[in-house]
Amino acid sequence: MVTGGASGIGAAAAAALAERGVVVCALDLNPEAAVAPAHGFACDVTDDTSVQHAVNAVVTRFGRLDIVVNNAGIGAQGDIAGNKDDEWHRVLDVNVVGMARVTRAALPHLRKSPSAAIVNTCSIAAWAGLPQRALYSASKGAVYALTLAMAADHVAEGIRVNAVAPGTVDTPWVGRLLDSAPDPAAERAALAARQPTGRLVQPEEVGEAVAYLATPASSATTGSILPVDGGMYGLRVRPA
Ligand code: NAD
Repeated sequence: MVTGGASGIGAAAAAALAERGVVVCALDLNPEAAVAPAHGFACDVTDDTSVQHAVNAVVTRFGRLDIVVNNAGIGAQGDIAGNKDDEWHRVLDVNVVGMARVTRAALPHLRKSPSAAIVNTCSIAAWAGLPQRALYSASKGAVYALTLAMAADHVAEGIRVNAVAPGTVDTPWVGRLLDSAPDPAAERAALAARQPTGRLVQPEEVGEAVAYLATPASSATTGSILPVDGGMYGLRVRPA
């Protein structure tokens, strides 16, 4: 089950898991955009009833649940004074509380799996000090801490919990951000240049990392946050 699985990183994760023989359900606001072989399921992670319906529908249809990729997320721009309360609530509701809702509904099923794994989508925003991303960074800092807490709480049950922390990934989301910039080409070049590899991360590169963490290939790994960021974290790059 991949939330936000109909676009960008979620769609790439769905494809990478499907390549490994996993039956994938993309839970999304736009389930019709899910790409086969992923199965689209309508779900709004901000609505507990919607989440429970979607998880029940997945388990009813396929009989089991082994993997949850908590990936649905939205962005926000501005410094700490740049967003009003309703925007704070909206972003935290999707990016953080959404993970709790989905995981809460999934846990009874994961406990029955011999190879249960949860992968959360974090971000370099959790630690990089990105300018003009105060609210978004706070939400991903919460995802970082939540990943470690979840890993601790469920390790004895055999449920592994890890996260990927992408840098700037060439997804429809980033495309929309670039389109709204005064000079999209210059902005794209600037985003690429701040990553040591000198280019944007491709969604498929994050999808592969998610698939690794979600499957027994990573059976000794829990409580890890894996940067997929063109070297930003490892080489300690701070954006100007
Ligand atoms: P995207 O906009 O391309 O895809 C996000 C998907 O989530 C969409 O299909 C959307 O319909 C779905 N979604 C949004 N709100 C939802 C909700 N309430 N319920 C269910 N589904 C919902 O974005 P993306 O770039 O692929 O980002 C995916 C995740 O990766 C997010 O958590 C984001 O914070 C994280 N991330 C992205 C980047 C990047 O540079 N693109 C970097 C680091 C982390």
